[in-house]
Amino acid sequence: MLTPDWPDPSSADPAGKEDGVRELKGLRRRLGHLQERLWADRRFALLVVLQGMDASGKDGTVRHVFSGVNPQGIQVHSFKEPSAEEAAHDFLWRVHQAVPARGWISVFNRSHYEDVLVVRVHGLVAEPVWRRRYEDINAFERGLTDSGVTILKFFLHISRREQHRRFERRLQDPRRHWKFSPSDLKEREHWDAYQEAYADALRECSTPWAPWTVVPADHKWYRNLLVARRVVATLEALDPKFPDLPAGSAPA
Ligand code: ATP
Ligand code: MG
Repeated sequence: MLTPDWPDPSSADPAGKEDGVRELKGLRRRLGHLQERLWADRRFALLVVLQGMDASGKDGTVRHVFSGVNPQGIQVHSFKEPSAEEAAHDFLWRVHQAVPARGWISVFNRSHYEDVLVVRVHGLVAEPVWRRRYEDINAFERGLTDSGVTILKFFLHISRREQHRRFERRLQDPRRHWKFSPSDLKEREHWDAYQEAYADALRECSTPWAPWTVVPADHKWYRNLLVARRVVATLEALDPKFPDLPAGSAPA
């Protein structure tokens, strides 16, 4: 299958790396300041969804983009195989509980999209069931934005070759063994089915209120830079404000 009109995963000008790394530092600082205003303002929340194949850099993106944010105002949620309790509820139940309250940033490392990705690829529910979920997801995300949550969704797009390189590194470097799971190799066999599932999820659920961004992710510095730029630009557009002093606050 040809991937849709996504940018080439390795598209980054290597000559731009030094400037890119410097720019990222500045963006991290700005993000720290913006988050302080978001926290003080309490009108808005930001939800960042990270999706991508194994080894696409979801953890690395969290570390590199959000490390300048006060830990008091941010939560990172990793969505694994549902527990028995989670599986006994509708698929959005566990996700809804992790949605940021106003003032907060939440980052989802995997998300409700697994329910139209891994679930589809492995046939964990029947096709009519996962097909209905696109609509459920759009309505859910719409409801969140109506209550003050801004949603950004990033697909970290790596090439098959780059994934192979990263698995090799994990196998060879004892400090990276913990990152490797034999199931990653099994999932790799379903590469094309995953790409197709991603293509559909991005097409069906790219809405004006919760857009997807495809991030070329073979180069880590470039991936971090693109995500950071978008997060900072979004918060700047929201323009959270430090509230005024309440009346009667002057010391007697
Ligand atoms: P890492 O390997 O970087 O630690 P990870 O996100 O791959 O992070 P794992 O514990 O390796 O974490 O894998 C979590 C697994 O749970 C993934 O294979 C993912 O597809 C699966 N998963 C997540 N949500 C669901 C879901 N709703 N139904 C079934 N499987 C799910
Ligand atoms: Mg894994």
